[in-house]
Amino acid sequence: MLKIRRQITVMFFAAAMIINSIMAFSITAEAASTEIPGTTNSPESSDNPYATGEPKTSEEPYATNTPESSAVPYEQDTPAPLKQDDTNIPDKMKESLPAVNITNIVPVTKTSVKINWEKIPEADGYYIYRILDFGKLKKLKKIKNNTTTVFTDNGLTYGQTYKYVVRAYKEYNGKIYRGSYNKEGYAKKLKVKSVYKKGYKYYYDMDGNRIDDVLPFTGKKKSYLIKVNIQKNVTTIYAKDGKKGYTIPVKVFLCSGNKHDTLGTYSLGTRYRYRTLFYNTYGQWTVRIHDSILFHTVVYKKSRDPDSLDVKEYNKLGTSASHGCIRLQCSGMKWIYDNCKAGTKVIFYKSSNPGPLGKPKLEKLPKWHTWDPTDPNMQYKCAEKKCNHKGSRKTALSSVY
Ligand SMILES: [Zn+2]
Repeated sequence: MLKIRRQITVMFFAAAMIINSIMAFSITAEAASTEIPGTTNSPESSDNPYATGEPKTSEEPYATNTPESSAVPYEQDTPAPLKQDDTNIPDKMKESLPAVNITNIVPVTKTSVKINWEKIPEADGYYIYRILDFGKLKKLKKIKNNTTTVFTDNGLTYGQTYKYVVRAYKEYNGKIYRGSYNKEGYAKKLKVKSVYKKGYKYYYDMDGNRIDDVLPFTGKKKSYLIKVNIQKNVTTIYAKDGKKGYTIPVKVFLCSGNKHDTLGTYSLGTRYRYRTLFYNTYGQWTVRIHDSILFHTVVYKKSRDPDSLDVKEYNKLGTSASHGCIRLQCSGMKWIYDNCKAGTKVIFYKSSNPGPLGKPKLEKLPKWHTWDPTDPNMQYKCAEKKCNHKGSRKTALSSVY
């Protein structure tokens, strides 16, 4: 009796799945046991029907596995039990899992690209695949949450074109249900080119997206020029383009200065880790600009405690909020600390134009986030809390690299 019931349940379930596919939901069922950890370097033949050499012309490979003729009559014969059984399928399983929309792929270094996609709210996570020859998919990563919508693919070859797909999945009763996807994938050529524009030398990828972090492509430079736009609270770093001077904008950081800062040209002085600042606050990385004016991180409430960030002050980045110093996120501040030697020219100026790389957006922090998300030593905390900071090239977090 139990066995029969079980069979019926399986058949009901299969019927339900076919109805789903008829309704173009394209949800596929596979046993979770086919997930073999640590085999990400081999083609995912067990993971993916397209890798099994099925003809590419088959538009609906999942539907062909279970002919409609075997299931539809069954449904017609016993409509009532199907409905009853249907109640055992959680609502989230009945929902569709649409194809994931990859929003952009950006070259990050000469050997890596960053893939961003739109969140699928009803998904439990995502599979990221690279499309190999003949449409075979190589699984790169399984992400077990639906809020992480970014993945960096490393170990690539400069100048090559790569194709990607992301598939959403849901898990129920030990089974993985994958959403549909676009078999063409999203192609990206890993290459950048320079373009002169309005006196600056910019870098773009082959799809015309500007690269804001160009040093991984140009290589680090011997010297830089730092310009701080006091009006817009943006700090832009320039590298030298031969005789043309410092006309390659290479980094842009959101900052906080003071409206009354004295404009002029200075040269970088001494650098300090964990320097005491005004009102019992502390800077983590600090470099003197002139007199008592420093570049420093957003202030901390305790000395040598990167988990004591003043979150309220952090959230003011991009506005005039300091007592005169120039505050930056850890990523930008540490970059200046590490890369700009003493004597580097610093220009304070005012303009309504933020600068050649624009003004990054700030991702504000909740009260409990008492560390700088761009602090390289605090990444473990963000991982613990599953923060999922956007880190797209248009936010201030882009400077993490
Ligand atoms: Zn975080």
